[in-house]
Amino acid sequence: MKIKDSPLDGPLCRYHEVCDDIQEVVITADQIQKTVEILSHQIHEVYANDTRVVIPVLLQGARHFADDLSDRLNDSKFQFVPVKVSSYRGGTRSTGQVVIHSTETLDIRGQAVLIVDDIYDSGRTLTQVKAHLEAQNPAHVKTCVMFEKACEHIHDVPLDFVGLPVPDDFVVGYGLDYQDRYRELHCVGTLKPDVIATEDRYEDAQSIG
Ligand code: 5GP
Ligand code: MG
Repeated sequence: MKIKDSPLDGPLCRYHEVCDDIQEVVITADQIQKTVEILSHQIHEVYANDTRVVIPVLLQGARHFADDLSDRLNDSKFQFVPVKVSSYRGGTRSTGQVVIHSTETLDIRGQAVLIVDDIYDSGRTLTQVKAHLEAQNPAHVKTCVMFEKACEHIHDVPLDFVGLPVPDDFVVGYGLDYQDRYRELHCVGTLKPDVIATEDRYEDAQSIG
């Protein structure tokens, strides 16, 4: 993917290199922003009568999405709380283990809770995080994901707010990473096979979420 005729150099040159790793853009930045706008209206309406809504944001992946949602909701009753969760370990397939690193600061008893995640793949992450939070007696727990992968969801959990479908491929961008790269892309795309093949040789890669 090329950025056309940019007069800039410096940091943008590195951006060029990163973008050259993308095989195909599957969701454009414009589609993403329009969808976030729609989702924020839906969330605003559904929670119109609530005075406080706790929003656990599953890091790192959902951070960009949550920041954009927060900007649009622009209401202090929505309390965004980062929660570190990881299920991939640097590769392109889920490990099957979901690790919830931090929810102890959340006081959700009797509260409306809306879990925000980047992408719904096997459903394992949301199922486990939802069960974990429901055990703390909130009023109710709803779920919101930016992307839903077109695959069989082994662990089905009801999705209350869904942004856009993505193909059943490993994708990066808009918060989604491969070995902690590509999160800053404003679009979502697949990686060139040679990028994955090379990178995957590093077995002790960072976990991602
Ligand atoms: P699940 O538990 O539903 O299988 O996967 C959910 C988590 O795995 C997501 O929150 C996301 O962090 C990660 N994930 C799933 N699919 C992809 C993908 O295509 N690309 C990236 N970068 N991460 C993914
Ligand atoms: Mg995630």
